Amino acid sequence: MSRRSFVTTTNDPIIGIDLGTTNSLVAYADEAGPHLIPNPDDSNDFLLPSVVAFHEAGNVLAIGREARSHAVERPLTTIHSVKRLIGRGAADLTQEARRLTYPLKSHSSEAGRDIIAVKIGDRRFTPQEISAMILVELRRWAELHFQRDVTRAVITVPAQFDDAQRQATRDAGAIAGLDVIRIINEPTAAALAYGLNRAEQATIAVYDFGGGTFDISILRLEDGVFEVLATNGDTHLGGDDLDHGLIGLFTREIADSLGVQIASPAIRQQLRTLAENVKMQLSDEDVANVEIALPPSLTRRGTGEVYPPVSPLGKGGGSEAVTCHEIYRRKITRGEFEDMARPWVDRTIEACGRAMKTAQLNPADIDQVVLVGGSTRIPYVRQRVSEVFQRRPYTALVPEHVVALGAGVQASILAGVKRDVLLLDVTPLSLGIETMGGAVGKLILANTKVPCRASEMFTTFKDGQTSIKINVLQGERELAADCRSLGVFELRGIPPMPAGIPKLEVTFLIDQNGILNVSAKELRSGMEASVQIVPTHGLTREEVCKMQAEALAHAREDMSAHHLIDVRTTLEFDLNKAERMIHQFGRLLEPRELRRLLQQVNELRDLAKISNNAEELNRRREEFDRAVLPLAEMAMSETLKEEATKM
Ligand code: ADP
Ligand code: MG
Repeated sequence: MSRRSFVTTTNDPIIGIDLGTTNSLVAYADEAGPHLIPNPDDSNDFLLPSVVAFHEAGNVLAIGREARSHAVERPLTTIHSVKRLIGRGAADLTQEARRLTYPLKSHSSEAGRDIIAVKIGDRRFTPQEISAMILVELRRWAELHFQRDVTRAVITVPAQFDDAQRQATRDAGAIAGLDVIRIINEPTAAALAYGLNRAEQATIAVYDFGGGTFDISILRLEDGVFEVLATNGDTHLGGDDLDHGLIGLFTREIADSLGVQIASPAIRQQLRTLAENVKMQLSDEDVANVEIALPPSLTRRGTGEVYPPVSPLGKGGGSEAVTCHEIYRRKITRGEFEDMARPWVDRTIEACGRAMKTAQLNPADIDQVVLVGGSTRIPYVRQRVSEVFQRRPYTALVPEHVVALGAGVQASILAGVKRDVLLLDVTPLSLGIETMGGAVGKLILANTKVPCRASEMFTTFKDGQTSIKINVLQGERELAADCRSLGVFELRGIPPMPAGIPKLEVTFLIDQNGILNVSAKELRSGMEASVQIVPTHGLTREEVCKMQAEALAHAREDMSAHHLIDVRTTLEFDLNKAERMIHQFGRLLEPRELRRLLQQVNELRDLAKISNNAEELNRRREEFDRAVLPLAEMAMSETLKEEATKM
């Protein structure tokens, strides 16, 4: 970690930090809005696991992801979850200490207060000092990103943190060389990330289900100021519990089917990686494969070590280890996982009820629900939250990122960055979806007043298509490639039908906060899927103007390109349909007639490939449609005859 090579100036950026129990992140905001700062070694990685690994002698071995990977072999010297300890006295921590893998020591300070510390070899580290190590690492990310000194920060804390915990968090910042200019509540940051402070007044529920803790907060926004009306939750309820539930299931089944007791903590830690991967996979898919290779020593009821489990994502490294081992293998469905998770999710929902009671509010009084924390990616959690608040929660931002993004927004407000608020009354750019051939079907045009809603019907292009990808686009241009893709989602599980038969209703809904909800429903089968997006995220007014100007400049060529795509698509659709008919009913035609039609199909296919003349293609298609008409009529009466004989 080389330090201090940058120059300090008065307009140094202010960063926003989410110092989490499980993961920590750093963000900032410019006129386009908030952005996360990535790990300098991996530009797609924004999460710093809040873990510090030490050598036995007490010097730091690793921070973050690498440190977490040492937790397996080094439970005594790998320090995690210090947020649970920060600012708390020894007396409060007797319960907590039992759950940690590493030892705590307490001693009295000169002021007579007991000070808690983590003991590594002969050395002691206060929770503030360990938190500071995490902050130093985040600061390093920020300095590399900005290529300059970063000395000022906003740090978030849970709403229920008391003064001592807040002060200790400030102290951690100071140890890390940061001037902590503001401590803000995590739920307030979450609301800021969604820009909810722009409303005049609102009542907002923030449901935060993280790795080890659950918090529900109810906020009241009045004239730009957030007040916490109620908090509730559980400091020992999080994604870790779900991991342990799965570990319990796997170990029980291994014991039952193979007669093996897995007792070693190292093995349990390995099972844990597997369990977390299975859990995450079930957030996206309906079923996950579980596979663990057990070494012979163990299955012969020995006490040897288990081999690394084979991860369902294929990252597990079990490949070389599977020589002649007994394998524990099973599939787990999302339904089974939901049954297992239910008691924990029930507890979060009960806490939501208690928070509403404290605030003396009913679900109808809550204007917005914001989801925070990695565990809210679980579809079942989303469903239960929607039910208890009787409202679709905001999910447009990645739930692990929300608090940091909001801290970035708060930092930029304090730094005096003028946020270029694009949206509130109208949509600055058109919104639509990609249609066949790379064209854009616009549903909401630029400058439409919000809130607004638009629906349009689409269908499939191929026979037997069971899924449809929906690419949500923003921009004024006519081709998808020239627009900005805001997100892609898939509607799955459509029963196979001939092309053109499914009735796909796509609905765009923009609410008063500018959040876009896109849903797609196949009306014959009732299958549904949706995605939520913040369309103005990361857009400046300048960029909007540029996109509008480009659309103007290319208007004519864009229109003709779009027209050509439509003509080609229709031609191809008609050719496919004719080919199916020829295949099925061609025997009804004179051989000469049949040859002629087939020849025409081939000719038109070739022409569609080379010709850019939309008029010509259209004319030829119409001619062809007329030529196929007699066959279509024969096919129709043949089908009716067949139906009649069946009856
Ligand atoms: P914290 O606020 O406690 O620092 P995070 O918000 O980063 O925690 O959430 C971490 C938790 O989210 C972990 O338990 C992790 O397993 C869980 N998690 C992350 N992604 C998913 C997912 N796709 N499905 C289910 N749980 C997830
Ligand atoms: Mg968190």
